[in-house]
Amino acid sequence: MTLSFRSDAYIDGQWRTAARRFKVYNPATQKVVAEVPDLAAADAEAAVAAAHRALPPWAAKTAKERAAILTAWFDLMIADLDRLAGLITLEGGKPLTEAKGEAAYGAAFIEWFAEEAKRAYGRTIPTTAASRRYITLKQPVGVCAAITPWNFPMAMITRKAGPALAAGCSIVLKPPHQTPLTALALAELAEKAGVPAGLFNVVTTDTHTADVGRVLCESPLVRKFSFTGSTAIGKKLGAACVGSTVKRVSLELGGNAPLLVFADADLDLAVKGAVASKFRNAGQTCVCANRILVEHAIYDAFSAKLAEAVRQLKVGPGDQPGVEIGPLIDEKAIQKVTEMVGDAIGGGAKALVGGARSEAGAQFFQPTVLADVTRQMRVNTEEIFGPVAPLIRFRSEDEAVAIANDTPFGLAAYFFTRDIARAWRVAERIEAGMVSINEGVYSNEVIPFGGVKESGLGREGGVEGLEEYLETKFVNFGGVA
Ligand code: NAP
Repeated sequence: MTLSFRSDAYIDGQWRTAARRFKVYNPATQKVVAEVPDLAAADAEAAVAAAHRALPPWAAKTAKERAAILTAWFDLMIADLDRLAGLITLEGGKPLTEAKGEAAYGAAFIEWFAEEAKRAYGRTIPTTAASRRYITLKQPVGVCAAITPWNFPMAMITRKAGPALAAGCSIVLKPPHQTPLTALALAELAEKAGVPAGLFNVVTTDTHTADVGRVLCESPLVRKFSFTGSTAIGKKLGAACVGSTVKRVSLELGGNAPLLVFADADLDLAVKGAVASKFRNAGQTCVCANRILVEHAIYDAFSAKLAEAVRQLKVGPGDQPGVEIGPLIDEKAIQKVTEMVGDAIGGGAKALVGGARSEAGAQFFQPTVLADVTRQMRVNTEEIFGPVAPLIRFRSEDEAVAIANDTPFGLAAYFFTRDIARAWRVAERIEAGMVSINEGVYSNEVIPFGGVKESGLGREGGVEGLEEYLETKFVNFGGVA
């Protein structure tokens, strides 16, 4: 199928080109699929200024009026789901079935927040003096800026732009250099839906990323900054936002999710959950189970079943039928995964299946299960971001929870058990923003998504996701008596 797409940036309702463009690659073939403007700091400033101009009339609309425009945007996304999914696969490498899932998931944030903004209620607070009345108003934060990663080229954008626009804010987005085309397709649909000029701006860049980031973090016109990406970059940008202009900050950062399998678990369900969680997007999601902790009594039985399931996974380009594991995003990613697996095997771990690059192409890695992994190995301490499942043995609930929590990260956690009391205990004791019991995949637009510890600040999705784009203003009515 030939996919149509825009390849210019989108600022103030105009498609903008530049003298210098950068290449976008298909990670399955390393072929160039497009060239996109490599914009600089001055373009980011122009986008912020446009967002600032567009803000007052948009904020003045009723939530219902804004919802009507956002619903038109959502409808266009749904009508264009196949093309959006095709673009996600083309530039991100994700298997097409997963890409369709992401496109539907991404669109759902626009629908959800269009509806939710109608319920941005303030409060009436019981007074402390007869002559006064207290209320709170919910108001849009103002101009927002967002920086997003390549592993969800669409959904990481809509879960920021959806609540921002629904709340009455405008937004400037810097998409990742690997996957700008999906972002530009969203801009194309926004334009068609009647989203006014300047409200949704897409600043594409590659060599000027740090300069564009500086404008978004430090501009006094930007009142809120939302970032999804690595913890290292998130810390830097968050500090710049607060240090320069004390803007509101949301950070959705890296993870190191544990998946615990207790001896009382339904083993088939646990294997299914572990495969779904670990091998989604070839292991390249922040909520992928990074390490799998298995109770001693069932370690051998679980390992054998998991290895058998993983052996069946079909590797190949995401646009081919039946493919479940696509390429990694780039050569750096392949090298990192190869090194981490080498570190584990060098330290005594055993590859039950996989363990090396795949013959499917330069950026493919074999789906891998590693047994006899220890807590010191990099596959336990670092985010792998590849199709590698390390198995670690534990002997008690306390030990399992201690290993699970022994990380600076705290995004997602999973565990499998049929013991109801244990389900409560472990859910409460695990240090993570999200815990899933007996299931490996759960993300959707109605839940509060986010992490604790160094996995981030704030939540996206759910009612909490709208709050991130609203200020709570307190109003005192005096002289009533
Ligand atoms: P990354 O290197 O931090 O990049 C993310 C974004 O930040 C990209 O748009 C990148 O732009 C930009 N960026 C990089 N350096 C910058 C700088 N100095 N100033 C301004 N912007 C800068 O992360 P990644 O490797 O693409 O993404 C994977 C990471 O994201 C993983 O750690 C994953 O766990 C995390 N993630 C978290 C969530 C969550 O919700 N918690 C969701 C998805 C992914 P360029 O592309 O131009 O470099």
